[in-house]
Amino acid sequence: MAYESELALRLVPYTAGEQPKDRQFIKLNTNENPYPPSPAVEQAIAGLCPSLRLYPDMEATQLREAIARVNGVEADQVFCGNGSDEVLAFAFAAFFAGKKLLTPDVTYSFYPVYANLFGVEHQAVALRDDFTVDVDAMLQGCPMALANPNAPTGIELPQCQIRRMAQHAKDNGAVLLVDEAYAAFARETAVSLLSEFDNLLIVRTFSKSHALAGMRVGYAIGSRRLIGALRRIRDSFNSYPLDRLAQAAATASILDVDYTARTVSLVVAARDRAYTRLRKAGIDVLPSATNFLFVKAGEDAAPVQQALRSEGILVRHFSSARLKSWLRVTIGTTEDMEKVTDALIRLIKG
Ligand SMILES: *Cc1c(COP(=O)(O)O)cnc(C)c1O
Repeated sequence: MAYESELALRLVPYTAGEQPKDRQFIKLNTNENPYPPSPAVEQAIAGLCPSLRLYPDMEATQLREAIARVNGVEADQVFCGNGSDEVLAFAFAAFFAGKKLLTPDVTYSFYPVYANLFGVEHQAVALRDDFTVDVDAMLQGCPMALANPNAPTGIELPQCQIRRMAQHAKDNGAVLLVDEAYAAFARETAVSLLSEFDNLLIVRTFSKSHALAGMRVGYAIGSRRLIGALRRIRDSFNSYPLDRLAQAAATASILDVDYTARTVSLVVAARDRAYTRLRKAGIDVLPSATNFLFVKAGEDAAPVQQALRSEGILVRHFSSARLKSWLRVTIGTTEDMEKVTDALIRLIKG
């Protein structure tokens, strides 16, 4: 007999990118925003200290109303959690536990971890050779989850393909989860499909486009039925996932639509410029609808990652066979991007 549960012994946890404590790096390894949050955030949380003796609003009412307004849905179609990671975990428990789930083989690597935690039978469906999602192979009568745009490829699947998947899932009484962590940097979102599909759950985060990774706020949009199931899971786990500071910060941030649009467009412009420069230098880089680029850096990209690190630049490398030639480079400021693009061209093209 062991002290640990069978579950604790068999889990294979998620590995997050490095958060350095000592040195100053150009930090392009965890898809954070290079710009600060909206100035409205600082104002919103400034006077809140005395109120912290009281529990927060467990329904995050103001925040849900703000999210609903910005996305053109009703507040009871919105669910908020402590980072989208928590929202995803609740969704796995609410819709996939005890079932078989299909995801692309290359996608957000937290999905297999949650599958393992919640007793979900997980089948990984190989991406096509060009790193796009093989939608035909995904349609097997099961629930499905994917990131769109996908990570770490950055490639966006057009809405007509999301619709096909939603329809197929609906015909089979299953949920389609679309993780839109990067939708702000993309062309399309699946939100307009919500009026047709009560089995569609869209998950978003404040960590990337709203520069609030340190606050931990994520949300889901879906039918009242799906939101109800998420609330039942939450209230069986932690009734207060969002603290008062996080609710106030996220509300101020999402209502400052102009600031978000401005900073997102700076990131998109820096991304497109870096993409063009790398392409012109003859480097393989996937078309990105996100705040990162997936760049081919030799047979094994690990030495290039190490060389960048010694020059003070952090990027992400995944060691699996399919991904080991590639680096995921978060889009930073215009200046950061000039530096990392110069370094990549020098290191890869020598
Ligand atoms: C960053 C990311 C998340 C996690 O977001 P948090 O809100 O910070 O937990 C979820 N899904 C994808 C695809 C991501 O890239």
